[in-house]
Amino acid sequence: MNKKFPKGGYLGKTLRVDLSSGKITEEMIDPKFLYQYIGGTGLGVRLLYDETIPGLDPYDPQNRIVIAVGPLTGTLVPGSGTYSINCRNTLTGLLTSAQANGFFGARLRYAGYDVLIIQGKSDTPVYLYINDGQATIEDASKLAGKGTFATDQWLRKKYGEADIDHHISVAAIGPAGENLVRFACVMNDRGHVAATGGVGAIMGSKGLKAIVVHGNQAIPVDPADSETFLENIRQWRDEAHNTGMGKSVGKKGTIGFYLNAHKKGWAPVKNLTTNVFSGTEKFDGDYIRKKAHKSLPRSCYQCTFTHCHAVQVTRGPYKGAIGEEVEYEILAGFGPNWGIYDPGTPTMLNTLNDDLGMDAKELTFLISMMMEGYEKGMIGKKELDGIALKWGDAEAAAEMMRRISRREGIGDLLAEGVKRSSDKLGGEFPSIAVYVKKGNAPHVHDPRSRWGTLFNQVVADTGSQEAVDYTARGSEDLAIEKPTAEPDEYLGEVNAKSAWWRQFQECLLYCYYQTASGETMIKTLNTLTGSDYDMAHALRIGKRVVNLMRMFNVREGMTKEHDSFSQRLGTPPVDGPAQGKSIAPTFERVLQAYYKMSNWDQEGVPTREILEELDLGFTIPVLGK
Ligand code: SF4
Repeated sequence: MNKKFPKGGYLGKTLRVDLSSGKITEEMIDPKFLYQYIGGTGLGVRLLYDETIPGLDPYDPQNRIVIAVGPLTGTLVPGSGTYSINCRNTLTGLLTSAQANGFFGARLRYAGYDVLIIQGKSDTPVYLYINDGQATIEDASKLAGKGTFATDQWLRKKYGEADIDHHISVAAIGPAGENLVRFACVMNDRGHVAATGGVGAIMGSKGLKAIVVHGNQAIPVDPADSETFLENIRQWRDEAHNTGMGKSVGKKGTIGFYLNAHKKGWAPVKNLTTNVFSGTEKFDGDYIRKKAHKSLPRSCYQCTFTHCHAVQVTRGPYKGAIGEEVEYEILAGFGPNWGIYDPGTPTMLNTLNDDLGMDAKELTFLISMMMEGYEKGMIGKKELDGIALKWGDAEAAAEMMRRISRREGIGDLLAEGVKRSSDKLGGEFPSIAVYVKKGNAPHVHDPRSRWGTLFNQVVADTGSQEAVDYTARGSEDLAIEKPTAEPDEYLGEVNAKSAWWRQFQECLLYCYYQTASGETMIKTLNTLTGSDYDMAHALRIGKRVVNLMRMFNVREGMTKEHDSFSQRLGTPPVDGPAQGKSIAPTFERVLQAYYKMSNWDQEGVPTREILEELDLGFTIPVLGK
């Protein structure tokens, strides 16, 4: 066990802010944790586990928000502006972990910290200003009720930085977070979203409107290895441009996925009631970039891809609307999943949603459920407070979004998210709702024909964590060869290993689209930190994090029933390329193979042996309960 502080890569400091008492302190991070968890999500979850009192309501002031970055954050590694927020999940009551790209992670490091822990609750709205190793809690009463864009602008003006791409970063909540909408998000750097699990609602429950970071602290690099570190970064960058993801996302953005996804039956249409619609040519990434939008690349920290863009819609009903180029999931979710077939309309809806501060995954399946319910006569205009929520009606959807963000009228019920709302509405609603049983909506796909994707999200312990779907191809990094047939054991094995690998990546913490080979990423980490990780060790770290996440949830009362999906997700598609297919008949066998590969028992609980082997012995008392 490495007990010494790593040679490079870490500032080694946590900033702890107690919003109840106003006390702000600095603490050193235990180097043992850095070796065992590296940083980012792994480190954040470990600290959260240690500081969480089981059984508390997510909004209890005693709960923590743990924001963590990794050793590579803020270096020259491509896309290393990412950060990870870890806290209780307001939809599931279990764990959540949300990551966002942009600049915020890098600037938190420049401000002097690897970890930020927020606890307590302020009775009045406040924001946190962290500047070069100094932190203050400031009055945010002038920002109360403001959208995330206006909040960002106000804070930039106050701190003298009108230019978006330089020097300060703001992570803020909108009205949805202030009003404890259970799927409120945190928005940083105007357009980057820590989306999952209601992290914005937890910030809102603490009275924390925003966090501003700025500074000039240097990230230590071992001088003996600095040249090799730079050489490794160059290799990382080259490799990232040449992966399948780099060649597609790097050049065309994720909107370039849409047509292929639709062809394969992966793109959700009208709440999964169909898989087809006419006019798909307008959802081609090239068409959108050339004909539907004017756009300007706006990359994140140390990114050389032309993925993120600032755009203006050039045709259709929302000509002139501005915002960020939508991602594939938003294009699908605020487009065909709501019966909207104009490719510019999701841009207008996305800008509104980013400003209100809500997670698009939960929102799309919430509104699509209500649109289907309205069409089928399960709910009427009167119960919807006068809003005729018809398929394709963007104005009706926008008005409902505003009401949800204010928890106004029917918006108060819908602010509870898909599962809770469908349970409260009753009748046929639970049978048409799209969610995984822990209590959150999945990523915005029709995952019924993409079993790896569906399975990953069903067993995820943080709410819709999307791991790479290796079921389609196997992976050299994971030393898994794709068999000619697809036995259930293979699906279980590949999903377990891909979850470990994904969690290792979340410990390193970088933009997922910038992935290089495992070997290059690990040697880059080693030259920066002076460590001795190899592929087996990396997978072991990922496995440790997956097991710790599971033990967090077991401690909160999670059972095997939570590793499942809603009725709608178990039904076969009625048309399209995946017509008639469903994972439901084989799901239990795949699940048991996954548990077995993970060394978990048949109820999905880690065994004492695996917990000891992974240095998670401190969680074993939970097994006795
Ligand atoms: S690929 Fe996209 S999300 Fe990732 S760092 Fe680059 S611009 Fe940001």
